[in-house]
This record gives sequence, C-alpha cells and structure tokens, in this order.
Amino acid sequence: MKEGIHPNYKTTKVSCACGSAWETKSIEDEIRLDVCSACHPFFTGQQKFVNRGGRVEKFKNKYNL
Ligand SMILES: [Zn+2]
Repeated sequence: MKEGIHPNYKTTKVSCACGSAWETKSIEDEIRLDVCSACHPFFTGQQKFVNRGGRVEKFKNKYNL
C-alpha cells in the first residue's frame, strides 16, 4: 500500500451498483462502481468467464461439486 505518500488522498465513499458501499482512500470525492468484490462474478461464484479449457471441471472436482 502506498497510501499516505499522496498529499491529496482523503477518505472517499465508494458505492457500487449492487448497493454495496464502503470507504477508501482516494483523491476523488466519491466513486461509483458497476461491479465490486461483493457482486463481481469472480467473487460471487457465477464463473461467467472461467468456463474454458476445462478449468470449471477442475474446480468442481477439487471441491466435489
Ligand atoms: Zn457490487
């Protein structure tokens, strides 16, 4: 993390289209996102973009799904 080296960094409210909101450090007053760690497919497990090269099958086998 390099927070603190930038003189204009301040606490910024971040809000996502899914309704999640949190605070971070940024030079912006407010940040609005379309996806975040709470609703991004990678984190929600929807696996939209991983279905290639048998990676889904390996994942399922690993966790006995
Ligand atoms: Zn979100």
